[in-house]
Amino acid sequence: MLELKNVSKFYYNNGIIASGFSKINLKLNMGEFIVITGESGSGKSTLLNVISGLDSYEEGEMYINGEETSHYTEKDFEEYRRKYIANIFQNFNLINSYTVYQNVELVLLLNGYKKRDIKQKVLEMIDKVGLTKFKNTKVSKLSGGQKQRVAIARAMVKDTPIIVADEPTGNLDVESAKEAIEILKKVSKDKLVIIVTHNIEQMEQYATRIIKMHDGRIIENTEVKKVENDIKPEESIYHKITLFNKYRLGIRNTFNIFTKFALLFVVFLFIAVSVLAEYASFASLENELSKQVYSNYFQDLSPNRILIKKQDKTPFSGEDYEKIKNISNIEKIVQNDYFLDKYIMLYNDDDINKILSGIFVSGYVYDIGELDGDVDVGRIPENDEEVVILASKKHYTISNKMQELLEQTFKISTTNSYYEVAKAKVVGVKYNKDDTDYTMKIYLSPNLLEKLNKSINRNFSTIKYFFNGKYTKINTFSVVPNSNVEKGKAIVNDDLKYQLTKGKITNQTINIYVDNIYYQEKLDLGISGTYTKKNYTKITGLEDFNGEMILINPEDYDYLYNKQPYQSSVYVKETKNIDETMQELENIGIAPKKITDFKVEDNMAEKQVMKIIKLIVTLTLLFVLFFISYFIIKIILKSRNVYYTTLRILGATFKSVKRILDIELFTNSSIAYLTVLLIIGLVKADVLHWNYVAKLVSFLTIREYVLMYIILVLMSRLISRRFARKIFKKSAISTYNEEV
Ligand code: ADP
Ligand code: MG
Repeated sequence: MLELKNVSKFYYNNGIIASGFSKINLKLNMGEFIVITGESGSGKSTLLNVISGLDSYEEGEMYINGEETSHYTEKDFEEYRRKYIANIFQNFNLINSYTVYQNVELVLLLNGYKKRDIKQKVLEMIDKVGLTKFKNTKVSKLSGGQKQRVAIARAMVKDTPIIVADEPTGNLDVESAKEAIEILKKVSKDKLVIIVTHNIEQMEQYATRIIKMHDGRIIENTEVKKVENDIKPEESIYHKITLFNKYRLGIRNTFNIFTKFALLFVVFLFIAVSVLAEYASFASLENELSKQVYSNYFQDLSPNRILIKKQDKTPFSGEDYEKIKNISNIEKIVQNDYFLDKYIMLYNDDDINKILSGIFVSGYVYDIGELDGDVDVGRIPENDEEVVILASKKHYTISNKMQELLEQTFKISTTNSYYEVAKAKVVGVKYNKDDTDYTMKIYLSPNLLEKLNKSINRNFSTIKYFFNGKYTKINTFSVVPNSNVEKGKAIVNDDLKYQLTKGKITNQTINIYVDNIYYQEKLDLGISGTYTKKNYTKITGLEDFNGEMILINPEDYDYLYNKQPYQSSVYVKETKNIDETMQELENIGIAPKKITDFKVEDNMAEKQVMKIIKLIVTLTLLFVLFFISYFIIKIILKSRNVYYTTLRILGATFKSVKRILDIELFTNSSIAYLTVLLIIGLVKADVLHWNYVAKLVSFLTIREYVLMYIILVLMSRLISRRFARKIFKKSAISTYNEEV
């Protein structure tokens, strides 16, 4: 069956040649129970390793079933081992984190047995070695004798013709040793068993032949019992490990050692979190950059916003808006579009010092019709003078002064000059979804919007007074509606006479020219009277003295300022079709301009630079993270060297070891990534109130999440590949000896 002719084994270490054994001649037959003995260092282990195909030999010939093996490659020996050899080791070489059942099962999984064949075989074998009671116990909890019985079961389950055992009783007490040998003898009938031992008395009664070694040579070879004849051995069946079995092992290994699982999990979590955070920070920075540059002009830079004017420069009519509404890609029209970019103020005192110490809020103007859903505090407005505020929950006024805000009446101003345009009562507050966004929105009734519209038109206008034959621009005086004034008349501060004329100004005519970017308008008014500090309240009906007013009748005021909008904004539903929509607008006499076209070209370059920096930083980060995690994972997996080498000894190939490791790292990284996604999901759903995180993740899209996952999977594959290479660089037995 097995024949060695003049076989020698040398070790080369740093140029020094050492002999493992030399010129060994042996002929071993099926059915024999060979006991090899000899002092330490005499070459027994080396001989067993060569016979097992775990180590090479340098001289002589070894025949197996009559076939010469000197031309065998590493792969041929792998096949040889899988067909013929099962090993039992002094230190058991079991997987401590597996149960008894899993340890025995492992051999069959690695050799391509089907699940349904495995179970019965494994249970029978466990029964034969008397460990049925412990089949689901982790091996680490067993005694030495029990462990060696598991090792025997594992060696026997695949039914190879040759069993090789190197000092199997070396770590056992007398009683367990005796038991183990008896079991081995019982289950190995008709096989070829080769055992190395220090303790010849233990084995003597079972041996059919005793071999004594000394200094690398056989000095005695005695046949104790005659063995019938050499039956031709049946090769053990083996197949490639099935994909399913690889998954079983990979997933089992993911979870079987909790500390390892947790450490790997943390590493993958760290990679995912740091890369996503870095990427999102950059995106956020890019966003800030674009905001900073344009916020002077336009506050709302939504890419789906289009500014529109009439091509003939006339104001929009209701009919125009109807036509625009009929364009299918139009989502909404904001008629007074400067509200989108201007803010108004609500304040409750005229004294500038008290304004700042009292309640003061400013926000962008929205139509109450656009308020979707209910308010969070207070109620929905019931009349035209009531408003709702949308603000961050964390805004100082909202979190500290709600009492002084709700159901209180405020003055509204459209400029910093605190000129009161209207009064309004705040009746409701709605919280902003993003509570780190401190900008406020104020939702007003159409009536209030009209008042603001007039006020803004007035503020945008330059007013020239044609008086006494010449035009004078008076910036400090403002035109104010007042119902005490007759239509076609004006009441002015008496002091105006010093600025405009030396004489009496009553009954003179004042011509008002309004000129702004949208329109021009003109009105001639006769001055019907003047006011002074003394008669101020009597004439104007107002309380606090203001010396810089030209009071006119409200109808005249409307004539000057209550204009239909000259500029509006529309929002499209699908930004990608914005160009078609622009064309359709032009076709109905409108001059459209995309809000994004107002962006300055310069900034494009800045953004480009930012993109490149982002790419470089991300790649560098990935590169650094890869190496850091490779070394951490290497340290974590180092403790697994024994495991993977055991797999090799039991018949696993490079490919299957790599794949099993792949699956383990893949499963772990996927779980880590799923955890990250789950946390992000909870933040997005506002279950976790991590505002900073919420803001950051708002910059990430599906594309980035998918990309991150691909990177993580690729990283884990690269790591498992490098690691598997390392394991297979040296022969199984030397890796094993180094580790144990
Ligand atoms: P035994 O198992 O009988 O105690 P070994 O087979 O382990 O003896 O060793 C036989 C000889 O081979 C010893 O001289 C030992 O020093 C040498 N040897 C074993 N393994 C190596 C190795 N990896 N490198 C160099 N010499 C070795
Ligand atoms: Mg030895």
